Formats: sequence, structure tokens, C-alpha cells
Amino acid sequence: MTKEQPRIYLSPPHMSGKEKRYIEEAFMTNWIAPLGPNLDAFEQEMADKVGIAGAAAVSSGTAAIHLALQLAGVSAGDTVFCSSFTFVASANPIRYLGAEPVFIDSEPDSWNMSPAALERALEDAAHRGKLPRALLVVHLYGGLTRMSEVMALCGKYNVPVIEDAAESLGSTYRGRQSGTMGEFGIYSFNGNKIITTSGGGMLVSNDTSALERARFLSTQARDVAIHYQHSRLGYNYRMSNVLAGIGRGQLQALDERVAARRRIFERYREALSCHESITFMPELPGTFSNRWLTAITVDEAVAGVTAADLVQALASENIEARPLWKPLHRQPLFQDASFYSHTPDSISVCEELFRTGLCLPSGSAMTDNEQNRVIATIHYAIDDAKRRSMLGRHKSAL
Ligand SMILES: *Cc1c(COP(=O)(O)O)cnc(C)c1O
Repeated sequence: MTKEQPRIYLSPPHMSGKEKRYIEEAFMTNWIAPLGPNLDAFEQEMADKVGIAGAAAVSSGTAAIHLALQLAGVSAGDTVFCSSFTFVASANPIRYLGAEPVFIDSEPDSWNMSPAALERALEDAAHRGKLPRALLVVHLYGGLTRMSEVMALCGKYNVPVIEDAAESLGSTYRGRQSGTMGEFGIYSFNGNKIITTSGGGMLVSNDTSALERARFLSTQARDVAIHYQHSRLGYNYRMSNVLAGIGRGQLQALDERVAARRRIFERYREALSCHESITFMPELPGTFSNRWLTAITVDEAVAGVTAADLVQALASENIEARPLWKPLHRQPLFQDASFYSHTPDSISVCEELFRTGLCLPSGSAMTDNEQNRVIATIHYAIDDAKRRSMLGRHKSAL
């Protein structure tokens, strides 16, 4: 029996070594509760890093989306436009508020929200006299959306924009950080993201009074009084001072993490470019992706294998790969939601991406040797399919 190779994960946490100092400080000063000096400093350091007026640290990216939607005025009965090609956490908070999502397709050039689909959806909504209360746009796998088109369309109809930059911290659009172009931006520090606090999130905005409101809502909405007095519904959403310490150490390594992930992407591209069947997620001109995950599509007709076959082949080598996100308008949870596709009356771009795509291991601590194992497995799976199809043809010729 051959010894099993160590597991290669999709995107494991990568500590910088600087986190401990802040955590120890929190222990030494007994700031273990939520709130405290690490929390304030982490918010300030994040705001400085992305170039925005302020930031509010919360317990998850999902919580940050929930707060952003409320601050944008979303309530029961409203509609919110949302990218379809994303993780379910982008849209769940719309439902938490009793609002309904309307899903927007991707476009081929960025894999992110299609301005053409968005324009049709806005025109329809205006006709019906029910514009969305907000738009939630996602920058998937670190790649940027066509923000100037999206912002112009939303500006025309006066719809506030919330950027889900959970996967794109460190990515830029014409020099501006993802998450800082809309009314609100959110980041996630979940364990699989480019930097992590084990679990956590951040809401950012240039509207500092809205951020004050977010801090109020995320600490049970306590009115100013000596006793406990509440006039509106609040949440326990604040990040703890200990976890903020991890975040401070992680943030100092962000630029290195982005460089490492981009290098991994380039190495995959060089090694796999011999396969015409493989296409890499594009990077729009004028944008800079953090390449959180290397995402590819596979043309089955050329490769002789599907994306699912490759995920399976990698799994049998103890390598974690994943299909691309299943579009939310195809999820049973959202089966009643409306959807606007990039081109009317044709299969949507995001469904095609889901059918043909996968993410490769992209952790910033992955070694060249580990990456070579991933690459060799893909080469082997495709070459093997070719060999078998040639053999099949040979047999049928006999
Ligand atoms: C991870 C993620 C979230 C949610 O973040 P959590 O911190 O896990 O709640 C939201 N949107 C996208 C696109 C994500 O990848």
C-alpha cells in the first residue's frame, strides 16, 4: 500500500507570526471581552489600508451584510438586487429582513455582475414602480465587477450599492480598493479568506454616522441610559477584542498574501496553458485581483474530462478542489426568486460557469512541491482521458 500524501487544502489559514503579540497583549491587560484597544485599532488600520473614512468590526461577513442592508434602508417587502453567482451568505441577510432577492447574471468578461442584465432588471423595476431598495454586488474569487457601469446604472435610479468584498480584500478597480466604491462595503475574515480572524467581518463606509449606527445595532441597540433601555431591535454582532488582535497581525501580511496568491495563479497558468481546454478567470483591464482562489473552466469536448471529473481526480490524490459557486437562482432556497440573464432567452453565464468550472488549491502557504502535485494530477487526468479515447477509437476501428 502506498502511503497517503498529506492533504492539500483549498485555502487554509496562514498566520504571519505577528498575531500572537496582540493576543498576548489582550490577555495581559485582560481585554478578553468584546470591545477594547485591539478592536479600535483594527478598525482604524483596516480603514487606512483600504482608504475609507471608517470601519466597524463584526462577528462575520454575513453580519456585516445584514447591517449594511439595514443601514441602506432595506425592510420587509422590499426587493434587493443581488449577484446570482456567489455564496449563499451574500443573499441570506436579504431574507433575514423579510425582503426578496432578485438575482442578476454574470458576464463572460469578469464572471461578475452583468451590467446588461442589471440594466434590464432596473428598467423592469422602474416600469413596475418598485425599484430595489439596494443592490448587493459581489467581487468573486477576488476578481472585480465592472463597477463604473454598475455605479452609473444605480446612480441613475438612486439605488444604494453594497459591495460584498468578502473574497476580494486587496483587489483594486482603477486604483480603488474593492469594497470602497459603493455606499457600504463588507469583508470577511472567515478561516478560508485571504486574511482571517478565525471568524469575523468588517463593514466599511465613508458615512461615519452610519457606522456609528452599525456599532449601536451590533451591541444589542442599547439606548443611552444607566439601566438597560432598548427602543429598537439589536444584535450581538460585535467582534471580540481577542480576535481583532489576530486581525491586526494578519492585516500586516495582506500585501504578501495577495502577492503569494497571484504568484500561485501565474504558476498554474504557465503549467496548464498547454491544455487548450482550460480557461482561467479573466482579470478586467484596469483591475487588480487578489486571486483569492484560482478559478478555471474546462471544455469537456476538448479535454475529455469535466470539471467534476477533475475535482474527483484531485480528491483521490487527497487534494481539495471545489466546483464554482452554484448560482443562487438555482438553489432550492431561492427557487421563487426572479432572475435576469446576461443575454435574454439564453442559458445564463453563471450556470455555464457552474457547469464547467472549479477552484484549485490556492492557499498562500502552499509550497511549489504541493502545487506541482495539483498540476501533475490535472495533467494526468487529461492525458489519461486522451489515451482512453484513442484506445476506444482504435478498438472500434478493428
Ligand atoms: C465568505 C463569504 C461571505 C460570508 O462571510 P462570513 O464571514 O463567512 O460570514 C459572504 N460573501 C461571500 C462572497 C463570501 O465568500
